[in-house]
Amino acid sequence: MTERIKELIVRLEKEHSLSETEYAELITGRDEESAALLARKAAEKQKVVFGDAVYTRGLIEISSICKNNCLYCGIRRDNPKAERYRLTPEEILSCADEGYELGFRTFVLQGGEDPAFTDAVLCGIVRALKQRHPDCAVTLSLGERSSESYQALYDAGADRYLLRHETADAGHYAKLHPKEMSFENRMRCLRDLKEIGYQVGCGFMVGSPFQTPETLAKDLKFIETFRPAMCGIGPFIPHRNTPFRNEPTGTLELTLFLLSVIRLILPEVLLPATTALGTIHPRGREMGIQAGANVVMPNLSPVGVRKKYELYDNKICTGEESAQCRGCLEARMRSVGYHLAVDRGDAPGWTKK
Ligand code: SAM
Repeated sequence: MTERIKELIVRLEKEHSLSETEYAELITGRDEESAALLARKAAEKQKVVFGDAVYTRGLIEISSICKNNCLYCGIRRDNPKAERYRLTPEEILSCADEGYELGFRTFVLQGGEDPAFTDAVLCGIVRALKQRHPDCAVTLSLGERSSESYQALYDAGADRYLLRHETADAGHYAKLHPKEMSFENRMRCLRDLKEIGYQVGCGFMVGSPFQTPETLAKDLKFIETFRPAMCGIGPFIPHRNTPFRNEPTGTLELTLFLLSVIRLILPEVLLPATTALGTIHPRGREMGIQAGANVVMPNLSPVGVRKKYELYDNKICTGEESAQCRGCLEARMRSVGYHLAVDRGDAPGWTKK
């Protein structure tokens, strides 16, 4: 590690900020030694804020139907081979009931942008979830909607919203998405969600096609200034039926490095060790936690649909029962000195408006 890289890491730890050029320099100049130093500092910060607790979120993949055509995504509209399904409100509620028994206190409803999930339908589901489990948080991850829609869902009881920004560089965004999708609208959504009062999550794929140290530096600057409550990053993994089928997978090494950088930028951020990270390495999620992540999101979707929510090839956890999924993660977390918390796991200091 050069003296310069060491200096950047020490400053990042102290000031939680670098310039965009310095973020790019840190990424370009990284090596094994600097990654280890960063990971150590990130894990220290994580212990100070969260102790040895890892928060869990029960992920319910409510629909594989999507009107969008993101070039990287396996459930994109123009993939005729994608198997489509949509859970009924009753199925969603019963997944949550099962999850509650297992110790989940946050449910994440994620899905493609499925027009059948109107505000009326979704608000009904959110209200019912809150009625049955008033001590639980509801997170939505259902893509771009109007400000009015986000407000209605918040008023119905939703607490958090995950919407990865995907990239903070408009030119890069245009290379990952079809013409009808816009960087400006994605950013508008994120601003609206924050303004309404949600705990908001942004994020991006590591190693997405056309990504460079400079676009990543913009992502880090965006995270630093937007100050999300949550930040989802995981490796890009190609899907065989998308235009990016032949693009390389994002690396474990860079994903871990960026998790550590993000923990130092925002010590209190809720940072998942994602399923994608567990997909590219058998111990990817454990390594993610050791690099500064503090959240895992086991799958609570009905076993019969898990394979159909196929964003990328070889996704893990598509066959296990929910109970096994939680048990398996508990053992994985214990193996690296952490435990799964039975807790809503809100962003420190957050209360609903
Ligand atoms: N439709 C919602 C949205 O746009 O936010 C939520 C579902 S979307 C499938 C969830 C996330 O999956 C995206 O934000 C994207 O970063 C990630 N994703 C999609 N395709 C992927 C791939 N091939 N590899 C890794 N992550 C992928």
